[in-house]
Amino acid sequence: MAAPDFDTIVNLAKKRGFVFQSSEIYGGLRSAYDYGPLGVALLRNVKSAWWRSMVRLRDDVEGLDSAIIQSPRVWEASGHVEQFNDPLVECTHCHARHRFDRLENADRCPKCGTAGTFTEARDFNLMFKTHMGPVAGDTNQVYLRPETAQGIFTNFENVRRVARRKLPFGIAQLGKSFRNEITPGQFVFRTREFEQMEMEYFTHPDEADQWFQHWVEERHNWYLELGMSPDNLRLRRHDEDELAHYAVATFDVEYRFPWGWDELEGIANRTDFDLRSHAEASGKDLRYFDQAAGDRFYPYVIEPAAGVARTAFAFLIDAYHEETVRDAPRTVLRLDKSLAPIKVAVLPLSKKPALIEDTEQVAARLRPHWEVQVDVTQAIGRRYRRQDEIGTPYCVTVDFDTLDDRSVTVRERDTMTQDRVEIGRLLDYLTDRL
Ligand code: ATP
Repeated sequence: MAAPDFDTIVNLAKKRGFVFQSSEIYGGLRSAYDYGPLGVALLRNVKSAWWRSMVRLRDDVEGLDSAIIQSPRVWEASGHVEQFNDPLVECTHCHARHRFDRLENADRCPKCGTAGTFTEARDFNLMFKTHMGPVAGDTNQVYLRPETAQGIFTNFENVRRVARRKLPFGIAQLGKSFRNEITPGQFVFRTREFEQMEMEYFTHPDEADQWFQHWVEERHNWYLELGMSPDNLRLRRHDEDELAHYAVATFDVEYRFPWGWDELEGIANRTDFDLRSHAEASGKDLRYFDQAAGDRFYPYVIEPAAGVARTAFAFLIDAYHEETVRDAPRTVLRLDKSLAPIKVAVLPLSKKPALIEDTEQVAARLRPHWEVQVDVTQAIGRRYRRQDEIGTPYCVTVDFDTLDDRSVTVRERDTMTQDRVEIGRLLDYLTDRL
């Protein structure tokens, strides 16, 4: 099937309450979004899938939740204060940002080669600034973090010590980041407030290349295992001139969005840049001591860094299918079951009190295990279509026979096959499949 166009997905996301325009009743705030009942469930499922694979299933990664507002010295040491205080232009074609004073050709983007696409040059720092305390002044200026990574570096020694870790090991974090992007856009793809999923993997410098390879493969596979089509996913190595100031090698995991290939995640070899910078700026020794070798050194860091909303958006696009079933059009989200916002819908065939009562009982039995939705309005066919459209893997129908045989019909989303299952066996039946 051809990829759905951008408007189709955006309309579905808005119509079904995945995403709302932020501050809508006041006319909306540009490029800021709120996530509705289904959106919040989808985001949570994406984050859980990431945490499961990056932390829970591994014995070499610890979790962390560091503050959004940190000492301004963190951002001086990381290079963020200086790095973004230059006159910047952004190419409106490929969104690459360039220091205007370093451009060879002031009219042509060195990344994509397009001419005449620059925004006006301005002295711009991507970090949002605010003040701690009631009086605004230079001495209490702080920043909203533009990445979660620095909170991991400043806690490297804390985590290593309390978890009694030896190299190699990682620290993972999920959380909000803020960037005053010059050109946000493409719906939730690039926003000024967004959530990141980042992991910093600390290794001996001699093993960094090997771990870099490991994480590139691991992260690529994560998307595939969650059902993303291999045709819409690729790895792209950064050219030398594309690399961030701290990186010696980077791969992007890219998705084929309706507007073309674009970044979902970056996997970078950040060397010892961050730990060394923080050690020098803070005066704290952040080197690792290898007791066996009697050696003290700065670990290298491999960082897979992804965006939550971008990932969820890509999964939505990839799952979207339109098909014809018995001469009727059907829209179905073939989301991986672990990502589906609602796992089971319970649908009484009619509003007759006895059926409603059984419906409530069945739903109550399933709710401790999965997100369950009860839908009683309109014809059963319409209700199936509504659940297909939001990717619900199973619909359980309570019908008139249920009153006698204490069984229900379970319909599977993709194949639309139906099984008759005793209510007493329903939990086991669904547990085997979800
Ligand atoms: P881009 O070039 O797309 O702006 P980046 O290369 O600056 O992204 P990183 O600093 O590598 O992004 O951040 C890691 C991940 O965080 C990105 O791959 C992306 O998924 C997510 N991310 C970064 N900026 C934004 C944003 N403004 N809105 C939504 N997600 C973002």
